[in-house]
Amino acid sequence: MRQQTEGQGFDYLSEEDRTRCAALVDGLLERRATPEEIDVVTRQLGRYPRGIVAVGARCSGCGSPLAVVTRPLIDGVVPFPTTCYLTSPKAVKAVSHLEATGVMAYLSQWLAEKNDEALLVRTAYLRAHEMYLYFRSCLAERLDDSQEHITNVSAGGMPTRVKCLHALVAQSLVFGPGVNPVGDWALRSCMDEFSQVTCRCKLASPQRNEPSMPKPIGAAGAVFQEVRHE
Ligand SMILES: [Zn+2]
Repeated sequence: MRQQTEGQGFDYLSEEDRTRCAALVDGLLERRATPEEIDVVTRQLGRYPRGIVAVGARCSGCGSPLAVVTRPLIDGVVPFPTTCYLTSPKAVKAVSHLEATGVMAYLSQWLAEKNDEALLVRTAYLRAHEMYLYFRSCLAERLDDSQEHITNVSAGGMPTRVKCLHALVAQSLVFGPGVNPVGDWALRSCMDEFSQVTCRCKLASPQRNEPSMPKPIGAAGAVFQEVRHE
């Protein structure tokens, strides 16, 4: 078995973070995707979810998959860096509406600002990035997947930019709140359209609303409260 986590930095991870990632991997491997779950995800994505390890997050109302975890090397040949992948059509659509507001460029710029709140969120975002890589390394090790082609490849633009909110939201759903500040923020921002705790899975697709600009990220200092409280 390869020692996949060696030789990588992980400067922002505590022992507890590492233990948490390893435990998450253990939990996922204990409940590998069943043929029934793979059927549901296939319908959600409109294609077979190659390399699926397990359902990583579910709707708390009906139990439908919201995000899946995919192995780092698919079929032994295809490197796959997007370990956490959003599958729920409702969630994908809601996040797409948020992305359509052009908020990613704004967030990327905001993260680079020189103020205490941006610094705090930037540090949390770096930790989220390392959690992602460490989690994937644990998974690679357990599955004996090589990840030499994706060693430092993160998702969603981490660790300094915001390029794909779907990837960041998927991490927030798989890891739970308090890990990825941007993913958590995106989930709150599209709460009217999608939420893990309010099942809308069986509803017909709503009329497409014109995207509206979400609340500014630093508004009243309230947006990233949970980061500050950690
Ligand atoms: Zn549901």
